[in-house]
Formats: sequence, structure tokens, C-alpha cells
Amino acid sequence: MRTEMRSTTSTDRRRPGRLRRLGVVSAVAVSAAGLAGGAVAAPAPTGAATTIATPVHHAYVVKMIDTGSQGNTYPETDAQLLAHVDKALDFWVDQTDQAISSFTRAGNLPTITGDCTSSTVKSDSWAAGKALFPGVTFGGTTGNHMIVLAPAGCAYPSVATTGSLANGLNSGGNVFVYDNPQIIDISLTHELGHNFSFNHANALVCSTTNGTTTCPEADYQNRYSVMSLALSSPAGSPPYLPPALSSYARDRVGVLKTCEVPSVSLGTGQHDVTATYDVWGRGSKNGTRGIKVVDPTTGDTYFLDYRDGSGRDAASYYRMASATGYNSGVTVEKVKPLSGGNTQPVLQPITQDTTWRQYALWDQETFTVGGLTVRTGPYAYAGDPSQVTVTLTNPSGTNTTLPTQQGTATVTGTPTAGQTLTANPTNWTAGSCHRYQWLDNGVPIKRARNATFTVPANPAGHVYTVQITGQQSGYQPLTATSL
Ligand SMILES: [Zn+2]
Repeated sequence: MRTEMRSTTSTDRRRPGRLRRLGVVSAVAVSAAGLAGGAVAAPAPTGAATTIATPVHHAYVVKMIDTGSQGNTYPETDAQLLAHVDKALDFWVDQTDQAISSFTRAGNLPTITGDCTSSTVKSDSWAAGKALFPGVTFGGTTGNHMIVLAPAGCAYPSVATTGSLANGLNSGGNVFVYDNPQIIDISLTHELGHNFSFNHANALVCSTTNGTTTCPEADYQNRYSVMSLALSSPAGSPPYLPPALSSYARDRVGVLKTCEVPSVSLGTGQHDVTATYDVWGRGSKNGTRGIKVVDPTTGDTYFLDYRDGSGRDAASYYRMASATGYNSGVTVEKVKPLSGGNTQPVLQPITQDTTWRQYALWDQETFTVGGLTVRTGPYAYAGDPSQVTVTLTNPSGTNTTLPTQQGTATVTGTPTAGQTLTANPTNWTAGSCHRYQWLDNGVPIKRARNATFTVPANPAGHVYTVQITGQQSGYQPLTATSL
């Protein structure tokens, strides 16, 4: 499939005065480095890294010298170009939790010649580049990628960058990217995403014509995804960096950890279920970071993510661009099946107010579609996970009695100042995922929603206990409190 990547500058509208936030850590109070460093430790889901057939990948990178009339300007040095490539390769190792165990660059940027005005410049360049690496097999499941870097003048629409849709994390492929320092990090990561079988991330975009509002699907418009547009940042601002892979994307290539993205669905005949999860920022590396739900009335699958600007998301478009409807909060993506078994994520608008866009739920907002209701909050404190409540209702279901989880909560550790207490879920129904709330003399403690808790100074007179809530699809939740 021929795919194109466009560059554009944001012109989205902003709704002024909208200050409510859902767990968004202030950029003033906490630096991006602090967020990336994991200032808030979430419980780590268990589960071994996924094994794929081709865990070792290589990028063969060449630089094109244009013989045509488009100019031969590279805004950056070779070292800078290669640093962009290395960053993109690292993204895919990191964001697959090392299912791609290594992705290394071969060669030191040898050059080829090409004609940026030619309609076959991409295929010609890939062939010329591959000729520099005799004995290397490209494409298929080799894990070998041919990356051609082209001069700035080889830009869309004169020449589109492209990647090839293939079969998941096992594949190799071809990438053609021109040097634009504003977008090259995203372009490289995006095109490699095509090599790894990802389609573009779309969105429903609402507009009103003659008093009628419609929300057709628009290509590229899910700007929480690297498979969206490559957007230039405002003058004087650093370029945007790719955000973390979404729950949808990690599910599609099979790298989710246990309880990272719990599933909620109704069994045959079941009428309704409500489940509440603590969802940590998608950019962080631990804890529950999304929810997968199936609308019982349509069978459609949705993924919920909490985009709070943490970790990998700290320099992404939604985090840095202040003038967009792509706000921080909980996003809703619908999975669109495609022919051939592939799928595509379609970001859902939270409102159909066409005077501005909103693509993520703030605190205590509700999104409803079919038999699915998503409710956020109440959100408490910056840096906490977002509480997300999912209710599924099947009007034709007659079974209103769901089985309840079984399990207890215990605490280990010494309750003296500075010591770490650990919550232990014990004897829970197989398949349960847990959330935590620590208590001080029975009263919930602010920002104490991890599996561990550090005892503060002067603990005399305080009894620290923990509530553990266990949930899984098809069960009513259970909350157990330690003694
Ligand atoms: Zn693309």
C-alpha cells in the first residue's frame, strides 16, 4: 500500500478558559525530565516480554545526493541525521518492551544519487541503497530495513515518504524520508511503523453544514499517535517527539503485559457490568495504562488510554501544543476492522461541538456510545492515575447477577518512618487486576494509590491499611481492606 505522510502546521482552535484538567501535571511544577524519571511509581504488571520470530532488526541507511532540480540541501549534518535514525530505532525497541530486542544501524551513511523530480525516485533510491549492501536480504521477515534519507527539497507533495504495510513486528521494509529537522523524528518513527504493519491513526472530525452536524472519519487525525500527521511546532519551540504507543497498538502487535490493559466485556446473557480502574499515563512504563472494552450492543471494540503527558509523551504534540482540541485526559479509540485482517484506530470525539474540538475526557466527564459508558474521576491529585469507570449494558441480557471476585488484602513491612509497606493481593479469583488505596486510620491518603507506600514521619498513633479492589470481565468488583 502506498502511504503518504504530510507535514503541516497546527491551526486548530482552542477553547479559551478551559482549565479543568484530568491529572495533568503542571509543566511549571514538574519538568519533563522529572516525569520521565518516574516520579510516580505505579505497580508493575507482570508478564514476560512477548517473543517474536524476528527480534533482531537492522537499518541500512543511505543518504541521497539529488541530481535533479529540487536542490540538494540538508539542513543537518550527517551526525545529526544518524542521531535521528538511532532515536527512531530506539523508539521501537523501547515501545515493544524489547519484543524487538535490538534495532541497530548498519553503515556510516554511504551516499547514492537520485533524482527528486522522478516519479520513481523512491524505488530507484531503495534499489541503489540496497546495492551498497551486497549479500543482505531485505523485506519479508528478514528484519532488515532500507532507509533512504533525502534532501529537504524532496518534500511532499513533490515526493511522499512511504513505508510498506507488512506482517507485524517480524517484518523488514523500505523507508524514504526527507530531512526536515522539525518533523524527521516523527517521520522516521512513523514510516517504520508502516513497516511494522501499522495503518494510519484516524479520527472522527465533526463539522456543521446547513445546521446539520456530521462527524466523518478523517485520515491521519489521531494526533495522539505517531501514525498521525507530522506536525511542525511553533517557531522557536523544539520539535515534537513521537508519543508512546497506544493500548490499541500494543495489543495489535501482542506486547501487552498482564493487567496493563484489562478487558471489560459482557458474557452471553449478561445484562450489565460496571468496572473501575486506576489508569496510569500511557507514557509511563508501569501499571494499568488502558482499558479494552467491547460494546455489547454492536460488538465494536474500543480502547481507552490516559494521556497525561508523562514519560514518553512529555514532548509529544498533544502535550506541547497549547492550541488544539487534542487535550490531555482519557481518549477513546474505536477499532475499525479492515479487509485482510488488519485494523485501524479511529479516535472518537468527546463532544460534537463544532466550535472547538475535544478528544480526551477531563475529570468527571462522560462518553457514551451504544451500550458503553465511560466516566472519568473523580480525579484527585496531580500525578495520580485517572480513575476510569466503564459500564456496559446489554438491554437484551436477562442475567443481572454476576459472580463476585474473591480475595483478601494483606500488608507486609514495618510501619516505621521511611519504611516501605507493600500491599499483597491474596487468593484472588484468577484473572483479577487490582487497584490500591492506602488508608490512615481508615481515611484515604492523598496520592497513595500504588502497590507500595512509604511511611511518613511520626507514625505514632497512625494505623496504615490498604484497600485492594479486584476486577475482571464478567465479575462484580470486590474491595478488600487489610486488617
Ligand atoms: Zn504514513
